[in-house]
Amino acid sequence: MYEFTYTTPAARVVFGAGSMKLIQQEVETLGARRALVLCTPEQKAQAEVVSSLLGPSSAGVFDGAQMHVPIENARRAREHAKSVDADCAVAIGGGSTIGLGKAIALESSLPIIAIPTTYAGSEMTPIYGITENGLKKTGRDTKVIPKTVLYDPELTLGLPVRLSIVSGLNAIAHAAEGLYAKDGNPIMSLMAEEGIRSLANGLRGVKKNGKDKAARSECLYGAWLCGMVLGNVGMALHHKLCHTLGGTFNLPHAETHAIVLPHALAYNSTVAGEAMDRIARALNVESAPDGLYQLNQELGVARGLREIGLGEADLDHACEVALSNPYWNPRQIEKDPLRALLQRAWEGARPAV
Ligand code: NAD
Repeated sequence: MYEFTYTTPAARVVFGAGSMKLIQQEVETLGARRALVLCTPEQKAQAEVVSSLLGPSSAGVFDGAQMHVPIENARRAREHAKSVDADCAVAIGGGSTIGLGKAIALESSLPIIAIPTTYAGSEMTPIYGITENGLKKTGRDTKVIPKTVLYDPELTLGLPVRLSIVSGLNAIAHAAEGLYAKDGNPIMSLMAEEGIRSLANGLRGVKKNGKDKAARSECLYGAWLCGMVLGNVGMALHHKLCHTLGGTFNLPHAETHAIVLPHALAYNSTVAGEAMDRIARALNVESAPDGLYQLNQELGVARGLREIGLGEADLDHACEVALSNPYWNPRQIEKDPLRALLQRAWEGARPAV
């Protein structure tokens, strides 16, 4: 029997190859006059193109976006927006640039238009992160959600294939856990299943040819859906483990997600049958954990945590940290099976279904 609450803050989404060219029209639709374009130093050329497409509606480019949004950069960006009389900001880039846009929106009334160029999905979530004195604080506020999102797959053609693959697998992890979320709902489950299907297919195409426009479009479509899931329902064991491993041992974020997911799903498989069926259906395989493990191999992702810098001696500590802070998960978190999960993920063994 169904029982759920479905609320979603509306954002305008414009999807399609070449949609970046609609930027000036979209600024007008928002009722704004002057847009400041945000980017990282690496994506300045793309930001300059957006600025020229804006013509007289451009308030210039601010290329100070950085990973983890240092508070000083957010302050500088806010001041800069004020000094050039911007009444809107366009964030073109991945989660770091969109994160800078969110930090601006948090403490000003500036509306944000996002043009995502990775599969991270931040543009669809009310989650923000700001780093102050070396500590990253995260929070949720619907005010930071971009008002308009332009998804233009052509902008992802230059995203390196290896980075595209791990970014896409990271997005799949959001959708997979969204399927057994405590606050899940049927709409998010539809989006999650379709997001996994699209990303798995699209990533196979990107692995063969990073310039394949159809595959890039399928990946970005999947990234939108997975981002929606991340923004609307809670995450569980898998995300907790990845935050623990990333935060405590400084492991690369997206690779850690890709390696751990099959094992976290195996842990929950006995109590989340419907979610497993949907993931397996999306991947066209018999078993969700095994299907994801095989997808990782096919896409050439590192097999085990040992290959990305975790020492075997760290596994006990990782297990303790993950146990120390209770959180919701469909199956109770118990020490021995959790330690066994970590061991398999470290070795790169098949998930224990
Ligand atoms: P990123 O934004 O840090 O980008 C990494 C590098 O790739 C940057 O130099 C960027 O300029 C470059 N790049 C991005 N797109 C490119 C393209 N198409 N072609 C060439 N280069 C390109 O990477 P990310 O993985 O998108 O974002 C990671 C950050 O986002 C993390 O800090 C993470 O915590 C955050 N994040 C937040 C949320 C949320 O909901 N708040 C969700 C996902 C990720």
